[in-house]
Amino acid sequence: MLLTNNLGYPRVGAFRELKKANEAYWAKKISAEELLQAGLKIRESNWNTQKENGIELIPSNDFSFYDQVLDLSLTVGAIPARYNSLLNKIDRQYNLDLYFAMARGFQEGGVDVTAMEMTKWFDTNYHYIVPEFVKDQEFKLTSEKFLNEYNEAKKLGIETKPVLIGPITYLLLGKEKEAGFNRIDLIDKLLPVYEEILGKLADAGAKYVQIDEPFLALDIDDATKALYPEVFEKLAAAAKGIKLIVATYFEALRDNEDIAVNLPVHALHLDLVRGENQLDTILAKVPANLTLSLGVVEGRNIWKNDYENSLKKIKQAVDALGKDRVWIAPSSSLLHVPFDLDNENNEESLPAEVKNWLAFAKQKLAEVRDLAVLAEGDVDAETQKRFEANKEAAESRRTSPLIHKPEVKNRVSNITDEDAKRTSTFNARKEAQQAKFNLPGFATTTIGSFPQTKDVRKWRADLKKGAITQEQYDKEIAEETERTIRLQEELDIDVLVHGEFERNDMVEYFGEQLAGYAFTQNGWVQSYGSRCVKPPIIFGDVYRPEDMTVRWSAYAQSLTNRPVKGMLTGPVTILQWSFVRNDQPRSTTTYQIALAILDEVQALEKAGIKIIQIDEPAIREGLPLRKADQQAYLDWAVRSFRVSSSNVEDDTQIHTHMCYSEFNDIIQDIAAMDADVITIETSRSQMELLDAFADFKYPNDIGPGVYDIHSPRVPSTEEMVNLLRKAKAVVPAEQLWVNPDCGLKTRAWPETKAALESMVEAAKILRAE
Ligand code: GLN
Ligand code: ZN
Repeated sequence: MLLTNNLGYPRVGAFRELKKANEAYWAKKISAEELLQAGLKIRESNWNTQKENGIELIPSNDFSFYDQVLDLSLTVGAIPARYNSLLNKIDRQYNLDLYFAMARGFQEGGVDVTAMEMTKWFDTNYHYIVPEFVKDQEFKLTSEKFLNEYNEAKKLGIETKPVLIGPITYLLLGKEKEAGFNRIDLIDKLLPVYEEILGKLADAGAKYVQIDEPFLALDIDDATKALYPEVFEKLAAAAKGIKLIVATYFEALRDNEDIAVNLPVHALHLDLVRGENQLDTILAKVPANLTLSLGVVEGRNIWKNDYENSLKKIKQAVDALGKDRVWIAPSSSLLHVPFDLDNENNEESLPAEVKNWLAFAKQKLAEVRDLAVLAEGDVDAETQKRFEANKEAAESRRTSPLIHKPEVKNRVSNITDEDAKRTSTFNARKEAQQAKFNLPGFATTTIGSFPQTKDVRKWRADLKKGAITQEQYDKEIAEETERTIRLQEELDIDVLVHGEFERNDMVEYFGEQLAGYAFTQNGWVQSYGSRCVKPPIIFGDVYRPEDMTVRWSAYAQSLTNRPVKGMLTGPVTILQWSFVRNDQPRSTTTYQIALAILDEVQALEKAGIKIIQIDEPAIREGLPLRKADQQAYLDWAVRSFRVSSSNVEDDTQIHTHMCYSEFNDIIQDIAAMDADVITIETSRSQMELLDAFADFKYPNDIGPGVYDIHSPRVPSTEEMVNLLRKAKAVVPAEQLWVNPDCGLKTRAWPETKAALESMVEAAKILRAE
C-alpha cells in the first residue's frame, strides 16, 4: 500500500550533540572511541524517531561526521595525493584523522596539509567538501561506512535503506585539479566501485538503495543526459535483487522528465514542493513498472504541510498508478530543517499561534505518515483529529491578523518605478556628495564591524541572562563605540563606522526589531562541519515598528566631525538568511523588507547620517538553480535593493557591500543596483575579481578589498600599494575607494590596528602618485 519514505535526517543532534563531540575531539578533549560513540547515539536516536513516527523506508548512510560528499570521496578512494602521509591513519570505519584532515587541513608533527575546498550544496546554506579529481584518477573502495551503518541499524532491529549520492552527481559536484580531461569522463572508472558497493549491500540483505541524482533536476548538457540511462543500466545489473530508488530534489525535472521516468529502477522520487506542477506531465509518461515517491512535505522550510492540498496531489497519483506504486515522502532530505519543534518553549520569541503553523524534522515524519493514512482511506480517530487540526492551522494562517497587515500589503502593491530609482544620475549625485563630504581620492573606510571581543559577547550574554542591566550594557557599548571612533580618527580613516558592537548577527539584529519575525531556541541547521546556523523565521507581513539603528549611529556621529556610515543589512540578504514564507512569493516578502529598510534609511538621513551602507552579500546565493529562472530573480532582487535605497537626497551617499562571490555573470545586475559606492572582496584573488567591473566599465565608485580579513596576518603597506596599483590600472582612480575585504568582527584588536594603519598609509601613497 502507500509506503512512507524518508530521504535523509538531520544529524547534528537536537541540541547540537555532534557539533560538541566533534569540537571536543578536535581539541583532543575526547577520544576517537568517544566520538564514534556520540555518532552512534545520534544514528540510533534518529532511526528510532523515524520508526516511531511511522516511516517505513528509513535512510542509513545519511549520517556524517562532517559531510556526506566527503564520506563518499573517502568511500570511493578519491583522496588527493597531498594526504598520502596520512593514509596509514586508518581509524576504524571512519578513518577519522585522514577524514578530518581532508575537511579541515592538518598541521601536526611536521605534516602540514591544507583542507579541501568547500562550496554550497545546490541552493542551500549547507556546504559540502568539493571532490578533487586528477587526469589519471583511480577509484577503489576504501571505506565501508555504508555497509557498517546498514548492519548497525539491522542489529538494532531496524531495516534501513542505504543512501548513496549517485555517480553522475558525484562527479559533477567535483572539480578537475589539472587540465586535459573532463571529470564526467571518469565515470567508467568510478562505476565498478558503485557496483561493488551495491553487491556488498545486496549480500548484506538490503532491499532498497536510494541513489541521489539531484542533477537530473538541473540544466545538464546532452552528453550527461545520454549518460543517465547507460549508467543506471549498469547499476541495475549490479544491484542483484535490490530495488533502486532514484531521488531528485530542489527542482522540477522539466526537460529531463523522459530520461528520469525511463531509468531502469524501481522508484523515482520527485520534489513536488519546488516542482509543484510536474506531476501532471510526469504521470502521463510513467511506465507500467515505475513507482513514484511523492515529495509533498517540504524538506527545505519549516511550515506545516497543508494536508488538503497534498492529498489532492496524492490522489491524482493514486488514481493514475494505484496505491502500490505511490509513496509519500518529504521533498528532500530533512537535513535542511531543525530537529524538533517540541523543544521550542519560548512564548516571547515564538508565540503559540505561530508555533502552531510550524513543523520541524520530527513533525514532518508524522506528517508523511498522516498523509499516507489519509490517502489510504482507512482513517483512525487519532489521525482524523490531526487532519482537523491541520485544516484549522492552515485556515488560521490564511487569516491571522498576526500575519496579515493590509497597510503593508498595500504599500508593496503601490511601489512605483519612481520609488525604485534615484532622482538624479550618478554623476550629479557624485558632485553633490563631493560638495558635502569633500573626501580625498582613494578615500578610506571599513566594512562595518570591528572586533567582537570576548568582552563584547559577554556583555550581550549577561544582558540576556539578566546579570547586567540595560543601562550597564548600553554604557559598555557606548564606551566601546567611542574607543572605536577615536581609533579611526587616529588612524586617519576618512569615512568612519560605529563598529556594530550592539549586533549579534547582521540578520538576527534586524529580525528581532522587525514585525513579522519569530525566533527559535534550538532551531539549528548544519551549515558546514560543526558549524550550525539558527535562521530566524519570517511568518508575517514585515514592517518596521520603530527605529532600528539610528540610536547608535547618531551617537557615533555625535562624537566626531568625520562622516560616520550608517550600517544596514539589505532586503535580499535578510530574506536569504531566514526561513521564509511559502504563502506568498519571495519577491513580495523581499519588497516588504525593502520598504522597512527604506524607512530606516530615511530615519538615518533625518538624524544627519548621510552615508549609509546597505549590505547585500547574499544576492548571488539567491540565484535560482535553473538558468531560465535566474533573470526574473535578479530583476526583483535588484529592484528591492533600489526600493530600499532610492528615495533619498542626492547628497546622501549609498554604499553596498558584497563578498564571497564571483561577480562575472551578474555584473550588469550589480551595476543596476546603482549604489554610489560598492565595496567588494577581492584581495584573495589578487584583484582578479575586479576585472569583471573593469571589463563592464562599471560606472559608480568601487572599493576593492585590499586585505583578507579571514586571517590574522597583517599585510604590509607595500602589498596593499601593489594591489591598489593593480586596481588603478583597470579602473579609473577617481572611482576607487580603499577598504578591507569584509567586516572585522572575527579579528582581534592588535592585528586590526596594524592592518588599518598600513591600509591608510597605502591610500596616501596612491594619492601622492
Ligand atoms: N557590515 C557587515 C560587517 O562588517 C558586513 C558583513 C558581511 O558582509 N558578511 O560585519
Ligand atoms: Zn562581507
